[in-house]
Amino acid sequence: MIERGHWIGGEWVAPVEGAYLDNPNPATNQVFSRVARGTSADVNRAVEAAKSAFPAWSKTTVEYRAALCEAIADRIAARAEEFAALESQDQGKPVSLASRIDIPRAETNFRFFAGAARHSRSDCFPMPTALNYTWRRPVGVVGLITPWNLPLYLLTWKVAPALVMGNTIVAKPSELTPMTASLLADVMAEVGVPPGVFNLVHGLGREAGQAMVEHPDIQAISFTGGTSTGATIAATAAPKFKKLSLELGGKNPTVVFADCDFEKAVAGTAKAGFTNQGEVCLCGSRILVERPIFESFVTALVERVKAIQIGDPSAPETGMGALVSQDHRAKVESYIALAKEEGGTIHCGGKRPELLAPFDQGAFLEPTVITGLSHDCRVVQEEIFGPVVTVHPFDSVEKALALANGVRYGLAASVWTQDLTKAHRFSEALQTGMVWVNTWLERDLRVPFGGVKESGVGREGGRYSLEFFSEVSNICIELGGPLGE
Ligand code: NAD
Repeated sequence: MIERGHWIGGEWVAPVEGAYLDNPNPATNQVFSRVARGTSADVNRAVEAAKSAFPAWSKTTVEYRAALCEAIADRIAARAEEFAALESQDQGKPVSLASRIDIPRAETNFRFFAGAARHSRSDCFPMPTALNYTWRRPVGVVGLITPWNLPLYLLTWKVAPALVMGNTIVAKPSELTPMTASLLADVMAEVGVPPGVFNLVHGLGREAGQAMVEHPDIQAISFTGGTSTGATIAATAAPKFKKLSLELGGKNPTVVFADCDFEKAVAGTAKAGFTNQGEVCLCGSRILVERPIFESFVTALVERVKAIQIGDPSAPETGMGALVSQDHRAKVESYIALAKEEGGTIHCGGKRPELLAPFDQGAFLEPTVITGLSHDCRVVQEEIFGPVVTVHPFDSVEKALALANGVRYGLAASVWTQDLTKAHRFSEALQTGMVWVNTWLERDLRVPFGGVKESGVGREGGRYSLEFFSEVSNICIELGGPLGE
């Protein structure tokens, strides 16, 4: 049994109140580790450590911090198999997916932000009699709160820019997936990140997370998670004037026009719907298909989805693992039951697969394709965050746009058409922070990442992250008259 306390001030410490949380592997429902159940007392210790480390750390050079980030990336690469196995054990995802996506991205996050910081520039605004230039300094102690779906991937997406910009960190991973964040703390120690620069507090959101958001000495909160949690965090942080970045939920449309490359669109739609068990904020769970190809598209999609192999996350042929927890599976199943009540047709999935022990105890659920639901029902309006997609026909571009924008979320969309003008005109009318055309989840780390409406506030990625994790000042120097006068 692995046991992890908090990583504070460069050492593992037991929780002040002595409580731990059991951490089961969702694929078997067997508890394989325990983590500290942090409280405000632990958060206070972590903030003190981060505050003590800040003066020296914030004075180090960008080059020094970038080199440390690269050393962290090297160690993640060296321990990639260990990271991938733990991520799968914690989250339920296939090891192959963690090895291909999650862990390489975590490594790249550190390399990318090391380079981005080295190449960052400041602005200059010359006047006839004065010179203005912008100067960036770190924010101070920053709080990073992350979800369970892409645990190390999303944590490092915040840790790397925060570190390289000279902040000190208190991070809290999801209580459901605490293990790779703990291994990251080991890596920080291996490469010599000074004590107190990176602190990790484990625990529940309403306890440790809430204590972080309330803490007066945490100057910025970068949060990725659900929309209702984001609302609670915003309500707590706003009166304290903390900097806030909120990356929240989505109910993303995949819009398929009749003039698409059919095979490519079917493959892309299946990938967008079911990658990581449908547990990606960017997953396309509302599929809108132009009427002339609707029937053939549903048939082809269902055929492809039925071929996804589900089961043992460590088997190389497994395409879909377990959902993150039994509770989460129950929530997803409740939406499938609701879809049936509301007259939906289940074309495939909708039930638990029959698996051999020990996976018969795991939180598995077959990938599910539903048609026949009206667009305003809860199954279509609310984020399910599991392997469930609904497919709807449309007859005009205007109707497709109204359906695509007809939810409270606005994170991402994908559009499938070979008509470039339509692709552009449709994309610019979509109320989302990101649009992919004829692709999905193709990522360049420099581009702005984030949502509109109830999908979030702010952007991450490239210079957007560097800006969030720094405060900009304008310095104006009076120059007097021309030289020699
Ligand atoms: P969640 O909101 O339940 O939890 C996220 C994190 O917040 C966890 O670490 C949790 O412990 C913590 N937390 C919970 N209550 C808190 C509080 N009151 N104060 C401070 N922290 C608190 O989300 P989840 O279930 O872990 O993740 C799934 C959600 O995350 C989905 O809605 C998904 O769309 C969203 N998500 C968004 C993005 C994005 O980039 N927009 C990426 C991944 C996931």
